[in-house]
Amino acid sequence: MKRAIHWFRRDLRITDNTALAAAAKEAEEVVPVYVVSDWKKNHRWTGAARQTFLCGSLAALDGNLRAIGSGLVVREGEAEEVLVKLARETKAEAVFTNRDPDLFGRGAEMRVAKMLAEDGCELRTFKDTAIHERDEVKTGQGGNFRVFTPYSRAWAKLDKPAAGPALKKLNSPDGIKSAALPTPAHWGLKDFTGGVEPGEKAARARLKKFLSGPIHAYGETRDLMGEDGTSRISQDLRHGLLSIREVYHRAKDAAEGSSATGRNNVWKFISELIWREFYFQILWHYPEVLEHEFNAKYRGMEWDQDQAKYRAWCEGRTGFPIVDAAMRQLNETGYMHNRSRMIAAMFLTKDLHLDWRLGEQYFMQTLIDGEIASNNGGWQWSAGTGADAAPYFRIQNPWSQTKRYDPAGKYIKQWVPELADLPAAKFLDAPADGKPIAAGYPLPIVDHSTERDETLRRFKMVA
Ligand SMILES: Cc1cc2nc3c(=O)[nH]c(=O)nc-3n(C[C@H](O)[C@H](O)[C@H](O)COP(=O)(O)OP(=O)(O)OC[C@H]3O[C@@H](n4cnc5c(N)ncnc54)[C@H](O)[C@@H]3O)c2cc1C
Repeated sequence: MKRAIHWFRRDLRITDNTALAAAAKEAEEVVPVYVVSDWKKNHRWTGAARQTFLCGSLAALDGNLRAIGSGLVVREGEAEEVLVKLARETKAEAVFTNRDPDLFGRGAEMRVAKMLAEDGCELRTFKDTAIHERDEVKTGQGGNFRVFTPYSRAWAKLDKPAAGPALKKLNSPDGIKSAALPTPAHWGLKDFTGGVEPGEKAARARLKKFLSGPIHAYGETRDLMGEDGTSRISQDLRHGLLSIREVYHRAKDAAEGSSATGRNNVWKFISELIWREFYFQILWHYPEVLEHEFNAKYRGMEWDQDQAKYRAWCEGRTGFPIVDAAMRQLNETGYMHNRSRMIAAMFLTKDLHLDWRLGEQYFMQTLIDGEIASNNGGWQWSAGTGADAAPYFRIQNPWSQTKRYDPAGKYIKQWVPELADLPAAKFLDAPADGKPIAAGYPLPIVDHSTERDETLRRFKMVA
């Protein structure tokens, strides 16, 4: 083939990028393009933190492409119109892209394929975002899994695709016009300054750091919110700065020669990668989860409307130090530790009785790693309504969670500065004297045991 387009979406890397490698192999020249969306200011499912990271990653991608003889072409508008126009302009015979795991991306692929076909051009899609895609892991009867453990067993049994190398050379035609690389201002947003470094190089450094040590103790440290016990690569997998195949194989290699405990820890980490694909296939096969409870029994649950409580939760002013630390970590960095996500989500749904969809949306707007499938899965799991969710009567107590996972108050002190000088004992129970634990810090906005009973009452009514 003389010329092809590679349409970048959530695969912003040149290493082991399936569709890009295929385009480079099959076509003499490849036009690498990113289509910048047109929405302005308020998006239900994204915000400044993720868009800032995206912009930084696009700039890094442009640099990486230039180093191998190309350069990113940026265009703005609806993907189907932009790609048809670009294909005509460059006389490209095919558009290559990696398949998106969610229904919105898939919808765009269908529209692009239809419009390109009308113009005599072909859309070629590739598996890249997951090791095993939505229809690869099936029950013995060919059905879809609704429960994680049997899914993960079936996942583990399948042959795994190998990881490929970094692309060394990309020939691109000269003189293709490009819009400027986007900045958050394109969407009417401000630059977000608190996030991790964007781009493929920084993502590779994060993976290397994790594999060189923390992965061997992952099982023991992954829940300790004040420690760096997890990989911190979720935004890199979300934006495709790392190949999931490479992450999987390198983690597996790290298990070789490790002690039995070390190997278990590596497998615990791999099992989290499987959760990611479990939720991809849940969203794919049960798209109604975006609107409704996965467990139909709990549809129609009673949720409160309380703006004041919702705002206190968003801003980290609930008077529950562990919840406030979690929400402030999110607001300041665009990231929240997994244990904190569970605590914050259970608190919103089981202590404040607010609808999980409110929390789901807030997380999507603020998280750099905001992933529709995992976020919906995590929220429904925490609310007790999801696929393989915590049973509704297992309600985490924020005070006991603090005792267990932040006993010295390291995490709380880091994110709630007004509590930094207090002894950790102050964070382990509601203040018995009814007085705030520090000047300017609120009293707990609810009583956990009272709200726990209320949650049980509401679930029993529909169960
Ligand atoms: C309410 C809630 C919302 C969540 N929203 C998101 C989200 O929008 N995007 C997101 O990537 N993860 C989400 N998670 C899952 C998890 O919290 C993050 O993936 C994790 O905290 C990211 O940190 P890490 O990269 O250090 O993870 P590690 O512990 O190092 O895990 C490695 C990778 O495995 C995947 N992973 C880990 N845990 C899960 C999980 N429970 N479900 C699915 N994938 C997982 C991620 O890709 C992660 O990068 C959510 C969890 C909850 C409880």
